[in-house]
Amino acid sequence: MSVETQKETLGFQTEVKQLLHLMIHSLYSNKEIFLRELISNASDAVDKLRFEALSKPELLEGGAELKIRVSFDKDAKTVTIEDNGIGMSREDAITHLGTIAKSGTADFMKNLSGDQKKDSHLIGQFGVGFYSAFIVADQVEVFSRRAGLDASEGVHWSSKGEGEFEIATIDKADRGTRIVLHLKSGEDEFADGWRLRNIVKKYSDHIALPIELPKEQAAAEGEEAPAQEWEVVNRASALWTRPRTEIKDEEYQEFYKHIGHDYENPLSWSHNKVEGKLEYSSLLYVPARAPFDLYQREAPKGLKLYVQRVFVMDQAESFLPLYLRFIKGVVDSNDLSLNVSREILQKDPIIDSMKSALTKRVLDMLEKLAKNEPEQYKGFWKNFGQVMKEGPAEDFANKEKIAGLLRFASTHEEGGEQVVSLAEYLARAKEGQDKIYYLTGETYAQVKNSPHLEVFRKKGIEVLLLTDRIDEWLMSYLNEFDGKSFVDVARGDLDLGNLDSEEEKKEAEEVAKAKEGLVERIKASLGDAVSEVRVSHRLTDSPAILAIGEADLGMQMRQILEASGQKVPDSKPIFEFNPAHPLIEKLDGEQSEERFGDLSHILFDQAALAAGDSLKDPAAYVRRLNKLLVELSV
Ligand code: ADP
Ligand code: MG
Repeated sequence: MSVETQKETLGFQTEVKQLLHLMIHSLYSNKEIFLRELISNASDAVDKLRFEALSKPELLEGGAELKIRVSFDKDAKTVTIEDNGIGMSREDAITHLGTIAKSGTADFMKNLSGDQKKDSHLIGQFGVGFYSAFIVADQVEVFSRRAGLDASEGVHWSSKGEGEFEIATIDKADRGTRIVLHLKSGEDEFADGWRLRNIVKKYSDHIALPIELPKEQAAAEGEEAPAQEWEVVNRASALWTRPRTEIKDEEYQEFYKHIGHDYENPLSWSHNKVEGKLEYSSLLYVPARAPFDLYQREAPKGLKLYVQRVFVMDQAESFLPLYLRFIKGVVDSNDLSLNVSREILQKDPIIDSMKSALTKRVLDMLEKLAKNEPEQYKGFWKNFGQVMKEGPAEDFANKEKIAGLLRFASTHEEGGEQVVSLAEYLARAKEGQDKIYYLTGETYAQVKNSPHLEVFRKKGIEVLLLTDRIDEWLMSYLNEFDGKSFVDVARGDLDLGNLDSEEEKKEAEEVAKAKEGLVERIKASLGDAVSEVRVSHRLTDSPAILAIGEADLGMQMRQILEASGQKVPDSKPIFEFNPAHPLIEKLDGEQSEERFGDLSHILFDQAALAAGDSLKDPAAYVRRLNKLLVELSV
């Protein structure tokens, strides 16, 4: 070992300490994945070198045979993983192996419960990575040198995986990284050629560069041990270049874990080769679980881009729309140039046509999943439904396709789970129903009991119940599905079309005429608080209800605007009353103008409360109500 200089001891970032603790205690049942993670990193490091060397061939330092070597020492109880990739400088090692750069990590760590079972699921969202080495090792040493740096600028990083690590500058002749794991007592099984070979085959067969292990060779007695020979144990070809029919599910799954930095299997994948005017391969995956930073602006997204099998960049965002940012995968193009940059990608018309084709592939894959694996699709929707709802606004061309993938809670499903598709809704619609009815609101409990649903309940018509913050905004982009338009049941003058019989329509007209006087009296009493007063066809049980004007913003949109500090346009509700309700009959017969005023204001405030709105003057409501209660009790 060469001389160490500038030796210092540094502490891990708090989140790393937590992660280490979690890792060691919760991934114990699947310890062998440490090798997969370290090989995955080595492979990434080689990809990076290969790419940087395109413009700076001197980085190869005359050694262009890129590979990974895994070796072991039974006596010393060590396992060593070595690559000749890009390597790390001293600074690189301090940041990459001492901190976690992902934004939102601290918040994520707060979610950890201390319950190892639950936490080991959470870690799936986070990915595992380098620190998994400490599952089997009680000391990890990293020897590395960044390609292009002087041999004297190597780094030695070492840690027992507790609170701190040591770092020193060393001489390292070869570029790249060597990681030495000092196995914990009881983990010596990993210092074994047969065992390591099996793990590599199982998890890393898809790695596109050779992974070599020492060739087993017995030295004949009395002879000197022969020079070490190595043999390649993986297939060492890029997975996506092989024919689909030859690739096993397990291989697709392991490849996903490598590129997706995920710990769990994907839900589904789609592997395609396009030939013709454009030539490219793509392998796209739907993860099983949303990453914790799905809603963080800076969170990594996009595909891994290769040009003619050479890795070019991670997180190439231009190949998929934002609402599909959760898709992981690889695209390998024959048409792009190797020195393509992010800026070029944004402008290149080739990319636009690839983007629309890849988008379609993803939507097709999701359609298939929904059709063939409805239970899995439910899980998908729970994790990614909110993001899919951004789709219709962003991707006009695929609006109808995306709408088909949406799932909603409904009056015809117990429990408020989002499980009903629009196709299913239409398939069981009432005869003569040519609209898709929906109601938006704050919570499922609130909309489920909304008076707006009374007439629908009476007639048995299904209404979709939309309570995600984004729903009202989503619906403003969806006008129709399968030729049927959407109707917000709390908005405007509800017209049930063919669902009302001629008789019902005639009767409604007559009632409206008969109640013109009452309408005028209420209008005079409520004054500025309402935009209109009218007889309702929406109600069977409640006395009154507030409807939103046809062109006005609903409550969700108002809240979104308010939260973003924008001025919310003033709008007044429509007051509708149920002429058959005893309270309205009482109101109609009320002689005292004062009591008429009190009662109509109480009905108005109650209607606002039932709609989940807050009262402008709650004290006035309480005062009026108490006045009536006192009168009642004398
Ligand atoms: P991830 O692979 O998701 O980035 P890891 O925890 O596996 O996270 O690795 C952390 C970082 O450490 C990598 O992003 C990389 O910068 C650096 N690293 C790890 N192993 C190597 C290696 N063999 N060669 C060069 N850099 C490495
Ligand atoms: Mg990694």
